[in-house]
This record gives sequence, C-alpha cells and structure tokens, in this order.
Amino acid sequence: METQILQIDEQHINAEWIRQAGEIIKAGGLVAFPTETVYGLGGDALNPASAKKIYAAKGRPSDNPLIVHIYRIEDLHLLVKEIPEAARKLAAVFWPGPLTMIFEKSEAVPYETTGGLNTVAVRMPSNPVAAAFIREAGGYVAAPSANRSGRPSPTAAGYVAEDMRGRIEMILDGGDVEIGLESTIVDMTGEEPTILRPGSVTKEMLKDVLQSVSEDETMMSCSDGQAPKAPGMKYRHYAPKGDLTIVDGAERRVVDYINEQALRLREEGGKVGIIGTNATIADYRGDSCKSVGDRADEAAIARTLYRILREFDDEDVTVIFSESFTAAGLGQAIMNRLLKAAGHKVVHV
Ligand code: AMP
Ligand code: MG
Repeated sequence: METQILQIDEQHINAEWIRQAGEIIKAGGLVAFPTETVYGLGGDALNPASAKKIYAAKGRPSDNPLIVHIYRIEDLHLLVKEIPEAARKLAAVFWPGPLTMIFEKSEAVPYETTGGLNTVAVRMPSNPVAAAFIREAGGYVAAPSANRSGRPSPTAAGYVAEDMRGRIEMILDGGDVEIGLESTIVDMTGEEPTILRPGSVTKEMLKDVLQSVSEDETMMSCSDGQAPKAPGMKYRHYAPKGDLTIVDGAERRVVDYINEQALRLREEGGKVGIIGTNATIADYRGDSCKSVGDRADEAAIARTLYRILREFDDEDVTVIFSESFTAAGLGQAIMNRLLKAAGHKVVHV
C-alpha cells in the first residue's frame, strides 16, 4: 500500500485534504493524524473491521482497547450508557484537551474497538487538525498512538512514517506535537474517579475540579501480580531497543555512577546512550549523550523524551542510563513512561 503523506498547516487547514482523509476513514481505511499529545492511528470507531486493521497495522494484541476521539461534547451520548456528573465537570474544564475518560459503553460501540470490554475510552483532542479530521471522518475516530507496538509513541510525522509507511492509507503531518506524552486516563465507572494513566492533566488539576480522585495502585509500581486497570499498561510499552536503567540520587553521584558504568560497558563492547539535563550533559562520557532540557522545565522534558528514545534506537545504542525526575505534577507522567521504558529498573546511588 502506498502511504500518502500530507503536510497540514494548523493555521490554514487544507479543507480538501481533510475531506480526503475523512473519506478514507468512512471507507474503512486508516489515517494517522496529529493530536496535542502524540500522533494517533485513526480508524472508524463504529466499524469493527477498522479496529482490526488498526491492531494489524500496529502489531498490537487485540485485547488492548482503543481510545475513541470525538470533536464535540454532544457526540459523547452516542458512545456511552450514562454520563456521570463528575465526567460532565471534567469535560467542561479539560475538553478539548489531553484527558481521556472511561465510561460504560453503549451498543453503538463494537467490542473490537474496546478490546472486548464493556467500557469505552473517549477523548476530545484540542489540536485543530485533529478536530477538523474527526468531523470529516463522521465524528468518531478510534485511535491508539501511531507507533508499531513496543516502540515509543510518535511525536512527529516522520516517526509515524518510520513505523507505518506502507501499512496505512494516509499520514496527516501537522508538525511536532505540543505535549509529547499520551493523555491522562481517568476511569469514571467506579465509585470514585480513578486515574489509570498519568498525563499532562495532573492529579492536582483533577482535584481542583473534583473533591475526590484516586489512583490505580499499579500505575507507578512494578508489582507483577496485579493487573493494571488500563489494559495497555500491562505491556512493556514505550520501550527503546537499548536496555534502560534509571539512576536516582544527588546530581554529582549520579554523573559519577553513570560514567563508571559507561566506561566499563564500553570496554566490553557496548554502545552507551545517556539521558541527562542541560546542567549535567557536558560531564557525561557515553557514546551518545542527550539532554532532555532544563530539569525545571517539565513540559520540555515531556516533549523531548520519546524523540531521544527513538534516536537511541536509530543509533543502535545497546545500553541506556537516564537521570531520574521528580514524580510530582507533570513529572509523574514523565516518570511513569520512563519507568515503563526501563522495565522499572532503578538504581539509587
Ligand atoms: P494508546 O492511545 O496507544 O496509549 O492506547 C490507548 C490506551 O488506553 C490503552 O492501551 C489502554 O491502556 C487505555 N484504554 C482504552 N480503553 C480503555 C478502557 N475501556 N478501559 C481502560 N483503559 C482503556
Ligand atoms: Mg500507545
């Protein structure tokens, strides 16, 4: 299959191209599109055959549910059995935006889209290209991140092309994404709204709107016994090819420890990648040393992390060390993804 790649300017959206993208979805095909979080791999959410194609293109197990993307709040009704009051409140504040909510699904949503679950995940993205595309596609676009399974989520269209060229009909190239980490997922079906995956809508922000919000215990931990509530979280997602270890401790000790390990591993023939920050990056002695930016600028770290992990893949780095980050605010989402990429391997020095 030939994959068409179209550059879309957010400020002057080419209506004809978006119409063509919408037609592909309505005909049961797949289109990758930009959102504010990461690029999505879209298909018709109400067409069971489209969901199957998404799983095949990603190489993803079909028990891993997709997020249904809408472009206006009133379309939520068709997808869900009921809209809890707390969900209305969150939608009023955070939609359109990087928040996904889980509801009891309606009959309209096929089990292929929800990975066999009776619940459905719904999000309304703020990216204007995404919104225009979803409208032209009929209003309901099922989409996981547009990466091949096991690779970091794509934060630019070039990374989508790397993974999906020849597998899907079209890629809408809207440039670099704004946030760089996947949406926050909150389960609205229980007694109390529960965060299943941290993202840039933080726990603190959710608590400002709702009195009580809880967190899935398995979210930041590595306990193998408990199954995470967001099925996708059980897979070794976001994984670079190199073996990643997070090193936590005082700045100088971290630099010294990583350099000692890097020296040893390079002597053994390994190719070492190091993730540091602007303050430390010049001090590292790896084969490839990359800064995520200023430690205080969490938004920049979130935007940069997946790109760095992909670059290490391209450079065939075999071992990676990363500094650790504070797990509060947006830092919680950053550490959640980093811990997953590392298979929870953390060294304290
Ligand atoms: P991705 O957009 O690639 O991060 O994939 C979507 C993720 O959303 C899945 O891997 C799940 O973790 C989560 N998800 C989607 N639907 C549900 C649902 N009904 N219940 C719980 N988690 C869900
Ligand atoms: Mg994903």
